[in-house]
Amino acid sequence: MSIAVEFSAVSRSFGNVKAVDQVSIQIQEGEFFSMLGPSGSGKTTCLRLIAGFEQPSSGSIRIFGQEAGGVPPYERDVNTVFQDYALFPHMSVRDNVAYGLMVKGVAKPERLQRAEEALQLVALGGYGDRSPAQLSGGQRQRVALARALINRPRVLLLDEPLGALDLKLREQMQLELKSLHRQLGITFVYVTHDQGEALSMSDRVAVFNKGRIEQLAPPRELYNQPQTVFVADFVGTANIIRGALAQQLTGQAQAFSIRPEHIRLAAAIDREQINAEGEVLDIQFHGASSRVEIRVNGQQLAAVLPNDSSDLSMRLQPGQPVAISWPRAAMVALREGL
Ligand code: ATP
Repeated sequence: MSIAVEFSAVSRSFGNVKAVDQVSIQIQEGEFFSMLGPSGSGKTTCLRLIAGFEQPSSGSIRIFGQEAGGVPPYERDVNTVFQDYALFPHMSVRDNVAYGLMVKGVAKPERLQRAEEALQLVALGGYGDRSPAQLSGGQRQRVALARALINRPRVLLLDEPLGALDLKLREQMQLELKSLHRQLGITFVYVTHDQGEALSMSDRVAVFNKGRIEQLAPPRELYNQPQTVFVADFVGTANIIRGALAQQLTGQAQAFSIRPEHIRLAAAIDREQINAEGEVLDIQFHGASSRVEIRVNGQQLAAVLPNDSSDLSMRLQPGQPVAISWPRAAMVALREGL
């Protein structure tokens, strides 16, 4: 399989802000690749570097093996879907979608035919005559997608494309994007700060922090084997134990994470396991399971217990002392940073 996009030690500074700092990645052709990270971590700048809207301060970018430096955006085999859709309000949906072809000088009959095909691809066949104002948010997002796809790019760049939609619609569009990706077989590069979104759709996820990639892995690996405190915190729902508490529990200061579902509760300490005494703060009923918040040495930890487990037969109450434990094998060691 060939490499669609390759960054070799790419940096991009704005004044003294290093928006992207020594990033090296290889995005495979046909891959659904996500860039995940908090606001300001450099994701959008990476996307704009691929699109050609920005140039690296140092390092090089190759697109399908070709050095991208000096190649203008419209000559790159990529297209971008923006969060705000950037539709022209005074144009019909059809003309919005066909816009890129018009700029390229494609004749009208072909333009119209391809616009209709692109609209059908995003389940908006028959909506061509409407104006963007006559569409719902989700439909506008689909028009933006159709417009980006009409040029048949080999790489589709998506910058928080679902950010403006409500939760239900966002989940629906996630399914549609994933199926569109499968259907088209092209490379998707997807920017988001929503970990659920990145984990549910992607083949691989790069986690950004301060312009650098802290970890690049498939979703399951990121979730189960976070390598740093930042990744464990940003991607997962695991308890992160560090500093004095880690020292007290394991005899070592090294930080580690432990998933809430691996924590067991008991009335008494079991010397065979890693464990500690704590105090129950709160119990939340979630149907099949309950989530128990426990304070251990000033730090709050969460345990998730199936509602049929014997742990809960203790009839936990807030304020009650409790012993917590977990199997050593469930601990994931974390580095403090890169
Ligand atoms: P968000 O999710 O908020 O879009 P992001 O992870 O995409 O964040 P970037 O937009 O890439 O982050 O920004 C990275 C850093 O670079 C930020 O500190 C930002 O302020 C800065 N930056 C980005 N573009 C410019 C610019 N054109 N001029 C000056 N600073 C910029």
